[in-house]
Order: sequence, then C-alpha cells, then structure tokens
Amino acid sequence: MAFKTIDDMALSGQVVLTRVDINVPVEDGRVTDVTRIQRIAPTIADLRAGGAKVVLLAHFGRPKGKVVPEMSLRQLVPALSEHLGVEVGFADGGYGAAVAAMAPGDVLLFENVRFNPGEEQDDAGFAQRLAAIGDLYCNDAFSAAHRAHATTHALARLLPAFAGRSMEAELTALDRALGTPKPPVAALVGGAKVSTKLDLLGNLVDKVQHLIIGGGMANTFLAAKGLDVQKSLCEHDLLDTARDIMAKADGAGCAILLPRDVVCAAEFRADPPTTTVRAEEVPTGQMILDAGPDAVAHICQVLDGCGTLVWNGPLGAFEMTPFDAATSAAARHAAALTRAGKLVSVAGGGDTVAALNHAGVAGDFTYISTAGGAFLEWMEGKELPGVAALSA
Ligand code: ADP
Ligand code: MG
Repeated sequence: MAFKTIDDMALSGQVVLTRVDINVPVEDGRVTDVTRIQRIAPTIADLRAGGAKVVLLAHFGRPKGKVVPEMSLRQLVPALSEHLGVEVGFADGGYGAAVAAMAPGDVLLFENVRFNPGEEQDDAGFAQRLAAIGDLYCNDAFSAAHRAHATTHALARLLPAFAGRSMEAELTALDRALGTPKPPVAALVGGAKVSTKLDLLGNLVDKVQHLIIGGGMANTFLAAKGLDVQKSLCEHDLLDTARDIMAKADGAGCAILLPRDVVCAAEFRADPPTTTVRAEEVPTGQMILDAGPDAVAHICQVLDGCGTLVWNGPLGAFEMTPFDAATSAAARHAAALTRAGKLVSVAGGGDTVAALNHAGVAGDFTYISTAGGAFLEWMEGKELPGVAALSA
C-alpha cells in the first residue's frame, strides 16, 4: 500500500492536524502507562524539526458525543509535555484563534474529539471545521484506524494526508508479515474461543502455508476431529465451522497444526496437579489448559522452516502457572530465530502482547503491535478506513 510519510511533506510554517492515540490509563490524575505517549514522540519531534505547528487531535475514553469533564484531555498535558520534551498548549474552544497564535515548533492539544458527536459519526461538517484551521493532516494512530471517525477518516480526505512515524512503522511491519512476506508463512492463532476469531482463521488459510492453532480454540478443532476434550473450554456448536475451516485449509494448501499433546488439570486455577497426555487421552473430568512439550517441539520445527510468523493469541491459559509454559517456550524459539535473522516475527493482541512480555522476549520480535482491535481487523483481511484514507 502506498502512502505518504513525513519525509514527503513540506512542513515549514504549516499547521499539521495530527491524529494520535493517547488514550492512556490514568489513576488519581496520574498517567500509569506512558507507552502510547512515547510512541508518538518521534512523530512530534520530526514535525517540529520540519518547522510545523503541531495540533494534536485525540480521543480519551468513551464520552459518547458529550462533554464529560473527567474525560478532558487537559489532564494529560503535564505527561505530554514531559515525554514530548516541549511545553504542550491546550485549547478547549476558540480553536481558530489558538492556532493563529502558534509559532513553528509549537504543540497544541485540542480537547477530546469525542466530546463532539460528529467524531464517531464520521461527520463531514465536523471534519470541514477542523480542516479549515489546518494545512496538512498526519495520522499517527494506527490503533484507531479501524474506525471511520471524523478525525481518522473524513478529515484525511480534506487535507493533504500522510502517516506519522509509528503509523509508518506499523504499516511497514504488517506488510512484511502478510502483504509481501518472505515465505513460507506461519500463523499462530491461539486464545480462548473460535467464535471471536472466525474471520481471522478464514482469511489466514488463504494466505499462509502453516496455521498453528493453540489455546482454548484448539479444543474445538480437536473435538471436530472426534476427540473427547472432556471439560475443556470448547464451542461444541462450532464443530462444523471448524471442519469447514479445515477443509478450506486443505483446498488452499495450508497445513493446520493442532497440539499433539496437552497439559490437563481438573480445575482452572494456578498450580493445580497436572497431567500431560496425548490429545486423544484427556483424563475423564479434566480440561486442557496448555499445549504439551511435544506440541511445542512440533511448532518449533515448523518455525525453523518458515520465513515469516504472524502471531495472535496464547497457546494456553498463560495467566496461570504452569500453563504459560508452551506460550513462553514457543515465544523464546521465535525470538531466537528472529535474532538469528531467520524469521520475520510480527505479533499483536492484548493478551498476546502480555504473554510475550511475560516470556521476556517481546523486544526480540521484529514487530509487536499494541493496536488490539485494529491489528485483529488487519489480520482478518479487512480494509481499515483510517489506513485507506491515507493511501496516495
Ligand atoms: P488476544 O487478546 O491476544 O487476542 P485472546 O483474548 O483471544 O488473545 O485469548 C487470550 C485468552 O485465552 C487468555 O485469557 C487465556 O487464558 C485464554 N486461553 C488460552 N488457552 C486456554 C485454554 N486451553 N482454556 C481456557 N482458556 C484459554
Ligand atoms: Mg484478549
């Protein structure tokens, strides 16, 4: 996909309306995780270095089109100023005059765009009023790109539009993973349920050579093959769906890999007594809570022969020991292959990122997307409105 970046734009003296995701967690007025602010810092620095006047557009919480004082972006100004290394101004009205008073290099944050009902309605009028006070539009909020909102979509059509640095990094990484990947490609899909990832599985079987299925959703596939998964999390009403996916994969030349052995327990809690058995032999009354060591060895062997890995969803109930073992072992192997230059590894999803951090290898992956919903929709093969609006 072709899109413009900061490097393509003449910025000097221009008012750049910059959509960012600074929807950070706040407790007692303090920002408890500044990751999202840190991610936009390179973009703001480069815009300022180019002589732009930087206007930040962002949402915070879900005020549903009304002014909700607790969701004012004003409370983020100190954290923004600290982590962006510049005194950030704030305007909650009189936007035109506030922008007119800006000098090149200044950074001005507008009030929560979701206070305006036009934002979530992708309203043309709201977008036009914003466009009238800016010269250029920069989107650095990939995580909001799956929503067609006024500041992620309509506005992008009204001004010369380009991607910020973190948007650029995300799109480049995603393209390397599924757009123009180095084959063969493996997708590892885990997590709790098949039902939440049907579109994902359907899209992947056409695009990858190996589909590794783990987590609770593997149980549904095992059951679809006639195995007795006992009390495991399993969507018994989706056995036909699972069979359809396996048939589609077969037709597309995609090999599906299910766990050959599994770790079982009688209760869903940390550190219960466990048994490791072949997937055909789940003990009566027990449930599968992780993939076994043989399954992990099988996964590692497949990854050894792959050029690219895209990963969403843990292989087991990783929040509880020892059911983090398979996810951590597979993650360490993927990280080692990546470090050795043999594998391009891209991962995303809320629990996936937590699991890879827990395994201590997130930094070794080629790219970790923190975008959640937008990452999943991209993996599902959907067009993201905020990204489409940037295409040159
Ligand atoms: P992500 O947020 O990365 O998209 P999901 O939300 O789909 O991932 O899945 C993560 C959840 O799946 C975790 O809460 C994990 O405990 C659960 N899970 C994984 N394997 C099992 C299993 N065998 N039985 C029950 N839950 C599981
Ligand atoms: Mg999740």
